[in-house]
Amino acid sequence: MKIYEKILDIAKRRGIFYPSCEIYGGISGFYDYGTTGTRIKKNVEDIIRKAYLIEEYGNFTCYEIDCPTMSVEDVWTASGHVKNFSDFIVECKECKEPFRADHLVEENLKISCDGMGAEALTGLIKNSNLKCRKCGGGLNDVYNYNLMFRTEIAPGKNKRIGYMRPETAQSTYIAFKRLWEISRKKLPFGILQIGKSYRNEISPRQYIIRLREFAQAEMEFFTDPDDRFEYLNLKDDAAMKIMDKNDKISEISVKEAHNQGIIKNRAIAYFLQKSVNLFVRMGIDGKRLQLRQHKDSERAFYSKDTWDVEFMSALGRIEIVGVADRGNYDLTRHANYSHEPMEIFWNNRRFVPGVIEVAYGIDRPVYCVVESCYVEEKDKKGNERIYFKFPPEISPYISVFPLMAKEGLPEKAGEVIDVLKKANLYAFYDESGSIGRRYARADEIGVSYAITIDYETLKDNTVTVRFRDTREQRRVKIEELEKAVK
Ligand SMILES: [Zn+2]
Repeated sequence: MKIYEKILDIAKRRGIFYPSCEIYGGISGFYDYGTTGTRIKKNVEDIIRKAYLIEEYGNFTCYEIDCPTMSVEDVWTASGHVKNFSDFIVECKECKEPFRADHLVEENLKISCDGMGAEALTGLIKNSNLKCRKCGGGLNDVYNYNLMFRTEIAPGKNKRIGYMRPETAQSTYIAFKRLWEISRKKLPFGILQIGKSYRNEISPRQYIIRLREFAQAEMEFFTDPDDRFEYLNLKDDAAMKIMDKNDKISEISVKEAHNQGIIKNRAIAYFLQKSVNLFVRMGIDGKRLQLRQHKDSERAFYSKDTWDVEFMSALGRIEIVGVADRGNYDLTRHANYSHEPMEIFWNNRRFVPGVIEVAYGIDRPVYCVVESCYVEEKDKKGNERIYFKFPPEISPYISVFPLMAKEGLPEKAGEVIDVLKKANLYAFYDESGSIGRRYARADEIGVSYAITIDYETLKDNTVTVRFRDTREQRRVKIEELEKAVK
């Protein structure tokens, strides 16, 4: 069994994530987060939320907004999504199975299809006589397929075409005029939005890596185009793999990459470094992270520069955040289409602000956390232990176990749960089975701390706190529990 198969198996059994709609045969591209996974996902979101809303205080102000996931066609015409947000699709003549044409060609011919059009792809497929992966049948011509979910808003004569948003960012841009007023007309400022987006992917796969409904956290950093971002401090971090647009790889720190002019824009360097640190804090293996600059052919024409943080997973390379200098393209497009000017007056000049966009996936980092934290180990007796070494900030719960389900221990456990409740911590109570089995179950879902209430607790009001990774146990007074686990 491959590592990612083991992870999916345990993820299903322990309520981390599993296919949606299972009793109706499932539908690819949709996953449920279970009782454990939902907590992990919320913790991933919260780490990002706090990192911008709280921890940037002093550098720039960042606010959070929450917009609808559906909007009228005008928005997506202006943004360019109606025309351009598409993939190349090719279908089997026999079984009608659809494939992403560029992926099919890249996998079979081991070449890059960046910048190729439908005709070029059709030509390559015909000349190389590529066949359907499923049934071996011949393939039709390649065509463009829009990835947005189209729908209708309102009934009858009032009916308008709507789309489910393929990204959160546009709903932030269209509210810019109001956000400028609310932020007291000062640059720079950031707007974070965490929420669902939708893409009708041709062939969703790899569990929660490519979903049709997925979560994002996008931060739009509105700036003066003359801003050099000196107030954003780059730390002296460890060296990491940094690949520029010409595939030149350097093993240097992000700060050094900025100093050498590899990552020219200081804000981009800053948000890349910040993101890498956030991912490590979530429990993602930092040694498997790399920075990659988009090539000229894959970058949107209006973007001055785009970089991704990628994780080398068992499933292949996964992009987990993209940081892009989008200039004033989006605001200008919306100004032109809506006839509402987006110009502001700042520093004695009138201009449309620039935007640095930091776009995190949520589901992908969750997968990377789960894969990075998966541990198989054997003790001296040869007993296997499989667990997730989630950091406490990601860990779904704190477990509370009475040693026995009798003689006042469950009642005393209730007191401990009250302490955790007051501290805003998620407790998970379990009194069934041997204490060893309960520890094993807690390990399997990556609980960092397990608290046990025993007969000594009744005498001196202390409990045992067990640390998952080391299995070390320490006695802590109930009054000091909050401090100990925090
Ligand atoms: Zn076929």
